[in-house]
Amino acid sequence: MTVSLSHLAASVEGWLGELGKPLAIDGERIECQMVAGIALGPQDGEDARELLRHAHLAAHRARQSQQRYHFFVNELNTHLHRRHQRSSALKDAIHNDVLVMHYQLQFDASGVAVGAEALIRWPQPDGSMVSPGEFIPLAEESGLIVPIGRLALNHACAQAAKWRQSGYPLRVAVNLGAEHIHDPELPELIEGLLARYQLPARDLEIEVTESSLMENISQGRQQLQRLREIGIEIALDDFGTGHTSLAYLRDLPAQRLKLDREFITDLPHQPHNQAICRAVITLGHAMGMTVLAEGVEREEEYALLKALGVDEFQGFLLARPLPGAQVGEHLKALSLAPSVK
Ligand code: C2E
Ligand code: CA
Ligand code: CA
Repeated sequence: MTVSLSHLAASVEGWLGELGKPLAIDGERIECQMVAGIALGPQDGEDARELLRHAHLAAHRARQSQQRYHFFVNELNTHLHRRHQRSSALKDAIHNDVLVMHYQLQFDASGVAVGAEALIRWPQPDGSMVSPGEFIPLAEESGLIVPIGRLALNHACAQAAKWRQSGYPLRVAVNLGAEHIHDPELPELIEGLLARYQLPARDLEIEVTESSLMENISQGRQQLQRLREIGIEIALDDFGTGHTSLAYLRDLPAQRLKLDREFITDLPHQPHNQAICRAVITLGHAMGMTVLAEGVEREEEYALLKALGVDEFQGFLLARPLPGAQVGEHLKALSLAPSVK
């Protein structure tokens, strides 16, 4: 019997509708979100095993693209293969210590450099750099985010110690992925690094995003509390872009709130963004936090943010991310001519 694809799709829709109906278990209403992957014999697989594998890939694609079902197409195999190659290359890069950190200076309102954010880069054989926006999501999916976080912490602490030795003590901020923030070994790792590089704990800051804590907020809070007890600082990154919860802001032991670039771009001409900035600044200050604006690109944005009461600034206008040694040169130049910015 041959079944047309549209008939098949209609049947699958029907099954998903039935399976997705709410269930009552022990008085609780449970709703399951179902997706389907469809692979057809014989063209999509020679045996049951291959058909199931391909149906699984199709279901994964359906979930990723937020569709209810997806048919298997050969391109899914090629995509998987490419992803696999990319994650083994990343694994090698970590193993061979190829990844490097760049640092972007952060300034207070009087123009003094007070910190630097560590931003990871993946150098390629042709001299280009892959930006973290491309490989951090892959690292999160392929279990490489903890080794990357360890490496970033190690490089950043070594660099902070070098700046301190040359007379420019600076707080260095490291971005950590969700899995690493919940890693029970993280506090010990940080204590070990502070001791090894003889760094005061206040020289290190961890940047966390709301989404990285979402999965297990109470465990996340406890872990951040442990890190606070060591003496390092906590910054809430990309604030306002996720499912911003005020309870989250109230309950986390953070010292710094990072106003996302999304609200800063073209600020003088965006009254709604100005209202958001005002509200976040008031809220942050009322909770005893320092507010840092990131992605400051223009003089007018910088001036307005200062007038609104932002405490610290980061952006291409003030400094681009650079290798640690070049940041050292920049710090030296700033200290010789403190009125430059
Ligand atoms: P993020 O934490 O929000 O970092 C700020 C990003 O904005 C950086 O991009 C920085 O180069 C860029 N930026 C800074 N100032 C400006 C500006 O004035 N204009 C514009 N257009 N962009 C600006 P980058 O380095 O490509 O990093 C992208 C993201 O990758 C980061 O966003 C962070 O989420 C993630 N990331 C970077 N390094 C690490 C790392 O070591 N570990 C983890 N887990 N994630 C990292
Ligand atoms: Ca960040
Ligand atoms: Ca950010």
